Amino acid sequence: MQRLETDYLVIGSGAISMAFVDTMLDQSDATFVIVDKHHMPGGHWNDAYSFVRLHQPSALYGVASTELGSGRIDESGPNKGYLELASGPEISAYFEKVMTERLLASGRVTYLPMHEYTQAGKVRSLLGIEEYQVTIRKKLVDGTFFNTSVPSTHTRKYDVAQNVTCIAPNELPKIAHQFSHYVILGGGKTAMDAAVWLLTHNASSDALTWVCPRDSWLINRATTQPGGYFFKRTAGAVAKQFQAMIDAQSVEDVFLKLEEAGNMLRVDKSVMPTMFHYATISEGELEHLSNIKHIIRNERVAALSEAGMTMTNNATHAMPENTLYIDCTATAAVFTGQRTQPVFSEDRLILQATYAPLVTYSAAIIAFVEANYDDIEQKNALCMPVQLADSPMEWLISTSQNMMNQHKWNQDKDLRAWLNACRLNPSYAAFKDNAMADPANAQLLKGIAELIRPALGNAQKLLQMHKP
Ligand SMILES: Cc1cc2nc3c(=O)[nH]c(=O)nc-3n(C[C@H](O)[C@H](O)[C@H](O)COP(=O)(O)OP(=O)(O)OC[C@H]3O[C@@H](n4cnc5c(N)ncnc54)[C@H](O)[C@@H]3O)c2cc1C
Repeated sequence: MQRLETDYLVIGSGAISMAFVDTMLDQSDATFVIVDKHHMPGGHWNDAYSFVRLHQPSALYGVASTELGSGRIDESGPNKGYLELASGPEISAYFEKVMTERLLASGRVTYLPMHEYTQAGKVRSLLGIEEYQVTIRKKLVDGTFFNTSVPSTHTRKYDVAQNVTCIAPNELPKIAHQFSHYVILGGGKTAMDAAVWLLTHNASSDALTWVCPRDSWLINRATTQPGGYFFKRTAGAVAKQFQAMIDAQSVEDVFLKLEEAGNMLRVDKSVMPTMFHYATISEGELEHLSNIKHIIRNERVAALSEAGMTMTNNATHAMPENTLYIDCTATAAVFTGQRTQPVFSEDRLILQATYAPLVTYSAAIIAFVEANYDDIEQKNALCMPVQLADSPMEWLISTSQNMMNQHKWNQDKDLRAWLNACRLNPSYAAFKDNAMADPANAQLLKGIAELIRPALGNAQKLLQMHKP
């Protein structure tokens, strides 16, 4: 067994671990051992389908020190007019570059890819018999909290008969042309990506069946664009969001008001969504999805056979010969079931969202607090974990928690100064572009500040109404 010694032993080299270590390098002189079962940094992006893209602008993703992308505005495709969205390969290349040129180049990081953390400072190689015992001077950092699950690596919860073709979206570009009917399984963003991919590559909408167990509220990407150029629309959307929280009579009503304001979208206006997973979409993509006529709602698949699908409620749906099933049923992050835990304890750090859904921004904030504050209670008070929402009601909870965290950060002079200069902060680009020099923008911001308290107040009332 080999021995290593480090200040922080980091489990995982996914996006949140990378963002944490990146900020720690600037804010401390600590050393790090990073362990990952994958052979490259970037976590689940290593297993992604080739046509995956960020659903939020690249400008808000990655690590604080290094821009992702060039700030380009797309001139074609369904994202036309909005800031670029990095592709899967681009994200993988980005994290590899950050690992090589920043983390390893610092001389303070030891990286053990293809290794697994087991317990009590023990790390084992996935290929050889090599084992390490790591002495941790400061903390074990858990970068696995979100337990991200993607179709190419997850375990399906339904049976597939031998002569049926059921694939992860990764294989779609290779074999789609061999089939004449397509069934998309799952109601999340991956399912929407697969549908949009098929439709934009000329599959007929009649050739698609979508098994969508729950309809989702979708964030309109037009309202999430950072920077001075988009400031009026984006800040205007924040004002409308707070106003909707103030005026609404119920959680459902908040979402209907957000839809009216253009902040939220849904595939079918006659269906009230029960899911919210922060999926962000453009109106161009939504237009494609709205063309799908065969949508099976409120049912989940139990088994696929040559005849078609048997559902968990025993309903059956015959499918044409030559049907391709596309499995999009992995749940991405743990949206339910796993409760948040304190981020900081004496010997451990559990990286979680402190500003949902921006998980890399959250990890960078946790790093700043870890490096600059001593008292565990104060650290936890500054980094209250925010549960990732699964439903409209949980959106209201997580949005309120975001607002409360933001308020605390604004009260802390050092943290506020650092956040104002942090590229992952959604407000950063507007300040950098000097958007506040326009008196109308400054007025808009002042108006938003005045809405925060009443919005939080009514949100608490609405949540009380929904308490079981
Ligand atoms: C398709 C898709 C699109 C997304 N788009 C966006 C977006 O646009 N914007 C956004 O903010 N978020 C987005 N997300 C959310 C996304 O989950 C996060 O952005 C982020 O990539 C999650 O990173 P992570 O580090 O938490 O997890 P992971 O990427 O899962 O990394 C965890 C790592 O830990 C390793 N690991 C686990 N256990 C061990 C162990 N015992 N020993 C060693 N290593 C271990 C794993 O191998 C893995 O590499 C998207 C998610 C998906 C699935």
